[in-house]
Amino acid sequence: MLNRSPAQSARDDTVPRNDWTRAEAGQLYALPFNDLLFRAATIHRANFDPNKVQRSQLLSIKTGGCAEDCGYCSQSAHHASGLKASKLMEVERVLAEARKAKAGGATRYCMGAAWREPKARDMDVVVAMVQGVKALGMETCMTLGMLTDTDIGRLKDAGLDYYNHNIDTSERYYSQVITTRTFAERLDTIARVREAGMKVCSGGIVGMGENEADRVDMLVTLANLDEHPDSVPINMLIAIPGTPLENAEPIDPIDFVRTIALARIMMPRSFVRLSAGRTAMSDELQALCFFAGANSIFVGDTLLTTDNPGEDKDDALFRRLGIEGLDSEAHADPQAADAHHDCTSAADVGCHGHARSA
Ligand code: SF4
Repeated sequence: MLNRSPAQSARDDTVPRNDWTRAEAGQLYALPFNDLLFRAATIHRANFDPNKVQRSQLLSIKTGGCAEDCGYCSQSAHHASGLKASKLMEVERVLAEARKAKAGGATRYCMGAAWREPKARDMDVVVAMVQGVKALGMETCMTLGMLTDTDIGRLKDAGLDYYNHNIDTSERYYSQVITTRTFAERLDTIARVREAGMKVCSGGIVGMGENEADRVDMLVTLANLDEHPDSVPINMLIAIPGTPLENAEPIDPIDFVRTIALARIMMPRSFVRLSAGRTAMSDELQALCFFAGANSIFVGDTLLTTDNPGEDKDDALFRRLGIEGLDSEAHADPQAADAHHDCTSAADVGCHGHARSA
């Protein structure tokens, strides 16, 4: 997805651009709610079938004991969340889970490991997982933390389609949430993954005590990358006992919808993923998020370690809203969707922020 020049984008706000200012984005965020939603929904319809939502499936291949100190995460070894750590799963077990996901309609399989970065010996196993899942005919996505150029090359050669690496929040608020790595390191990993030719999944978490300007700044950072992330997960914090953010003030649901709408407006051709936190959302709130431009969810009973609405509940919600599953991002464009009437369902990822996952 190549971004157009500012001159082109001035003529058409359904076209991606990467020259957003904080002031401009802040003004959009503060629009009267109905105006904001109308604008987001209009842009959404210009780029996507508004009644199709991608369904993503996620597996934790290595849980807990993480060296990072992300304040939202139950998997950090720094926090007393009580989560039991486990070793990297065996390849065959991961493939058995992937087969089940495929039988359930998933076309993409996302695997997350609670690492600061993988060790060389871990990479042998992870590469075998990617190759195995690819051999099942599924798309692959991984989230493993920071990567060396060698790791990136190995994942690319193994056929990895997507890499998830969230920026979590604004640069200003970042050090309030994480101290063991920097915002700049996140951006560096994302840039090198993109340069290697893999698709990027990157978003953040809201409801961590950040203010409106932080939410806007986070989206400005993502929207001003040379290429927008192909997928933008927006997580609502699941406040987990024992983590530093266990008592964080919940975000106003209307502000959550505003964040989704702003992501849709600023990254018009990216998949905006309604990620962690859906168990705390009413059907009506989720419906507003879909209207505002969210077009992907995680399915299954769990994310990486937290609860998620079960598929029955999601199927019922989709039926109530007249929404269908989408089997591939290649079918995202309305014209492309017209050319592929066999869309059924799908799957997708993420950690680092493991929030959706935490
Ligand atoms: S979010 Fe990812 S990197 Fe951060 S502590 Fe959790 S598992 Fe580790």
